[in-house]
Amino acid sequence: MAYNVTLIPGDGIGPEVSAAARRVLEATGVEFHWDLAYAGDQAQDMHGTPLPDYVLDSIRQNKVALKGPITTPVGSGFRSVNVALRKALDLYVCLRPCKSYTGVPSLYQNVDIVVFRENTEDLYTGIEYDSGTPEMARLVDLVDATGRGHINQDSNISLRAISGTASRRIARYAFNYARANGRRKVTAVHKANILKSSDGRFLSAVTEVAREYPDIEFESAIVDSLCMNLVRRPQNYEVIVLPNLYGDIVSELCAGLIGGLGVAPGANIGDGAAVFEPTHGSAPKYTGQNKANPMAMILSGAMMLRHLGEQEAAERLKSAIAQVLAEGKSVTYDLKPDRNDPTAVGTSQAADAVIEALGR
Ligand code: NAD
Repeated sequence: MAYNVTLIPGDGIGPEVSAAARRVLEATGVEFHWDLAYAGDQAQDMHGTPLPDYVLDSIRQNKVALKGPITTPVGSGFRSVNVALRKALDLYVCLRPCKSYTGVPSLYQNVDIVVFRENTEDLYTGIEYDSGTPEMARLVDLVDATGRGHINQDSNISLRAISGTASRRIARYAFNYARANGRRKVTAVHKANILKSSDGRFLSAVTEVAREYPDIEFESAIVDSLCMNLVRRPQNYEVIVLPNLYGDIVSELCAGLIGGLGVAPGANIGDGAAVFEPTHGSAPKYTGQNKANPMAMILSGAMMLRHLGEQEAAERLKSAIAQVLAEGKSVTYDLKPDRNDPTAVGTSQAADAVIEALGR
């Protein structure tokens, strides 16, 4: 049976790494019907919007998508296609496994951390107020009236809301994952010593869920202290669960612990659909150069295979990737000890090497 999967090539290096992942996934022997859907710059040019409805409809129907990175304009313009997509489909889990691979140059070895980032709330709801607007003036008055403090009139405000509902569901997902995957410990990350209300809510919700999992060790960590300890001894962590903003930052830190964005895959998962995409962005400066590392996108494809129930193909693919990385020959510039190494291969050749390893 062929799986119907929405394929969103994305912007910048997205089309190259997506094409590489598509070829590799097909080489596993699993069959796919790819439903090509354009979001980002291409969609803006073709349809006048970076996130046309047909893209969301395709994902809703297929329930699974493989997505390349999409550029987000800074400061102004459409807020973020990525955030809008996660919100529209209620993809409340952002799952980012960060695992060391032999052969990948890195300061650390034996890192194996799975990051669960809450994907729908926190500072990413896009509820913002600019100075000089009537809404902002009303907010300033409201805060004054509560007697909690004062906001300068020329401030801009981004609202941060954290609910018990969203915190509990990401926590439950992380604990279920830990249990199903033989992980012994879950660490909840917060700044509840300062953000007593919002982060306090997150921490109390995760602590409440932790009681339902007496077989899994539970600890909490303040986000700044966690960052220091991750850099000192990343092997102390197994599963980390965080609100959206900390999750965004810490998951990229964890990618750094395993040798960089080139090998950091990810998934955005909800109850009705899942979108698999690498942690990295569209790296515009490498567009069209056959230079970007496709491994993070291919590893995201391996996560997708697992999600589809194709465990054996997923394991075979991961082992083929591990072989290519361990050999260190057919890898892109970012995985060479010297980034200017002339023997580095291109995106498409790295994918060829994985396909070759699949056939061994
Ligand atoms: P980036 O991840 O695109 O690039 C950061 C650095 O990592 C750059 O030096 C880049 O060259 C390198 N890099 C990234 N991916 C690589 C790969 N596969 N192989 C080799 N090197 C790689 O981050 P950025 O520059 O902050 O963002 C660029 C754009 O991507 C922005 O518009 C941003 O909003 C967007 N973005 C999108 C997503 C997504 O679609 N999920 C995620 C992150 C960033």
